[in-house]
Amino acid sequence: MHFKSLNLIVPIIRAVTEAGYSKPTGIQAQGIPPILEGKDVIGYAPTGTGKTAAFALPILQMMKKKSQEHKDIRALIITATREHALQMEADLQRYSKYLPLSQLSIIDGISEGSQISALRNRVEVLIATPERLLEMYGRGHINLSRIEVVVFDDADRLLETGLGHKIKDILKLTPQKKQILVFSATKPPAVSRWADSILNNPMEITV
Ligand code: AMP
Repeated sequence: MHFKSLNLIVPIIRAVTEAGYSKPTGIQAQGIPPILEGKDVIGYAPTGTGKTAAFALPILQMMKKKSQEHKDIRALIITATREHALQMEADLQRYSKYLPLSQLSIIDGISEGSQISALRNRVEVLIATPERLLEMYGRGHINLSRIEVVVFDDADRLLETGLGHKIKDILKLTPQKKQILVFSATKPPAVSRWADSILNNPMEITV
């Protein structure tokens, strides 16, 4: 299996090849096609399996393919910790190297002033921890009304830390019609139940 057979576009294949990836991992091979088709996905995949690229590559491709006229946040990635958010930003930057998309931002781990000025620029992909996102939204710095896809990374950790209700609050701020992707390292019943309550006819992948 090659990245090409997953219908990924050349600029993305070039970036992953430069990152040293010779072929997709299991979660990528199984996850990328349904995500590109716009389906909801729940992926159970531990860290180290390449799950970030499994959702990041198709999201970057979808952002690229659609109208370039949007000026709003179109993809929202929620994760449990700022360390993960920063790591994810670095990964996304690598994968989008050859795309006309530098519109990434992260709203945790940097000073509020620089967050606000970053958000004044065109941002298409926003990476955030739930509490910081809600804070910044509450102060009017973020518009979530044009979101097309929401990713919950580390769903098990998000729920363990009691952030389940905050996530539902976040979803209420986004349009009804959207794609939702959930990734979790472990498969406790609480995650499956929670995923069932927010996902629409999802494809389930376990690696
Ligand atoms: P993740 O599970 O997303 O934390 O990724 C774990 C590590 O695997 C990261 O260092 C990635 O850069 C790397 N990685 C992701 N996809 C691939 C791939 N297809 N081939 C080789 N390494 C990969």
